Amino acid sequence: MKYKKLNTLLIFVMLLSLLVSCNINNEIISESSEITSEVSTFSSEISTEASAEQSEGGSSEEQSQPNNDLLRISFIDVGQGDCILIKTAEGNNILIDSGSLESKDKVLNYLEFENVDEIEYAFFTHPHADHIGAADEILKSIEIKNVYIPNAVTTTQVYNRMLDELEKHESVVQAKSGQKISFDGIEIDILSPIKDEYNDLNKYSIVMKLTYGKNSFLLTGDATSENEVEMLEKGLDLKADILKIGHHGSNTSTSSEFLTAVAPEVAVISCGVNNRYGHPHQETLEKLKDIDTYRTDQGGTIIVYCSLEDYVIKTER
Ligand SMILES: [Zn+2]
Ligand SMILES: [Zn+2]
Repeated sequence: MKYKKLNTLLIFVMLLSLLVSCNINNEIISESSEITSEVSTFSSEISTEASAEQSEGGSSEEQSQPNNDLLRISFIDVGQGDCILIKTAEGNNILIDSGSLESKDKVLNYLEFENVDEIEYAFFTHPHADHIGAADEILKSIEIKNVYIPNAVTTTQVYNRMLDELEKHESVVQAKSGQKISFDGIEIDILSPIKDEYNDLNKYSIVMKLTYGKNSFLLTGDATSENEVEMLEKGLDLKADILKIGHHGSNTSTSSEFLTAVAPEVAVISCGVNNRYGHPHQETLEKLKDIDTYRTDQGGTIIVYCSLEDYVIKTER
């Protein structure tokens, strides 16, 4: 049954991604409602199967009840940087990082395409420009209800621009290991930062594990191997199906011990084509050789569609 569902999901999402990639490439957003309705039709198919599984034969009431869409996690291609949009099954939004200032238009277009007019939770993982460069622009144009930032201090212009906008926000939370958020069926566990002070901004990165039904994601910002050791020593549950590789695949992250503990089926690397840092580094790719790896520099935006049972991944190109 699970296999059959996965196949149906795969075929559907292949069709869907054709539409999505057309839209992304041409910046045509008029078809988005059509896509949403197709996703909706499909997700009620899934829910029908699920309720049929639960109650022998499934009552017609249960079958006709409209269920939610799929959860969508988009690793938006922002060149060298990170920007992840999570659209919940209920249609609410979570944003992790903004990409750099140069990718501002791309991100804002994507948010428009996904009908994002409000963001419930935004996490700006750490104050580097490739993660928060467009944060002030997003804060200006979209209402964000809860903002999480780490307790990192820097004096860069990009950071100050973000802080200026954040001053207008009431709900800014200092992210810390141990915090938990439950929202729209998603459990978010903040795993790092663990310590109060570090000698490098990357080490302040907010690392979170996100669980939705049977699917789990570990999203790491630019956390380094030092953070990975801390998380391992703290005995945190790091196991996840999908790992967003730390620091764009740099060799200063993704230690073998950490990778073994996460034991992901899929790795996602967010990095720019021919970036000047040489990300992802060869050593990291070597460690990932037996793991299904997706890269934004190769595939463009990467979208993971999740039901409570399964997930399917599609790329822009
Ligand atoms: Zn970065
Ligand atoms: Zn960084």
